[in-house]
Amino acid sequence: PTDINALADEYLRLSFHGLRARDKSFNADFKTNFDLNLPKVNVVPQDIGRVLLNLINNAFQACGQDLSGFQNLTGLKPLVTVSTSPLEGGRGVQISISDNGPGIPDSIKDKIFQPFFTTKPTGQGTGLGLSLSYDIVKAHGGEIKVETKEGEGTEFTIQLPSL
Ligand code: ADP
Ligand code: MG
Repeated sequence: PTDINALADEYLRLSFHGLRARDKSFNADFKTNFDLNLPKVNVVPQDIGRVLLNLINNAFQACGQDLSGFQNLTGLKPLVTVSTSPLEGGRGVQISISDNGPGIPDSIKDKIFQPFFTTKPTGQGTGLGLSLSYDIVKAHGGEIKVETKEGEGTEFTIQLPSL
């Protein structure tokens, strides 16, 4: 049984410090909104950790001014928020990762989970993060969804059952 709050916190810090060390102009901030009564769930922690890292890296890259080629058009301080909550009936957990980046244009929304799809400059993205994340979440019997609004931001939500 895994404590998802602890796992999310660990990978959030890993992502934040990793990206900041790589790019001195990195200027994003983060916030957590963890449910303190979250039930533990049976997952492969390294795999779900990988999913969290992918989604959190994407979120920081989308809203921060870094090497990934995104432009911050909102004028807001780049912010990534990671939240957890129990699924209804306590039979699982929901994790959401949201950013106040540029959002995902309608024209590419149905391509982002495809392997090797990336809009990042060469060397900055493999296009494998979301495709791998999708497979891992499905292998856990879960769901991954995205909600996005151009010019406002993006929220990825993962639901994991307590198998
Ligand atoms: P990569 O990060 O290597 O480009 P991913 O599979 O993680 O590959 O993401 C694929 C594409 O989906 C990204 O290149 C980007 O265009 C888009 N994307 C993913 N997450 C976000 C986000 N939070 N905000 C805006 N675009 C995103
Ligand atoms: Mg990625």
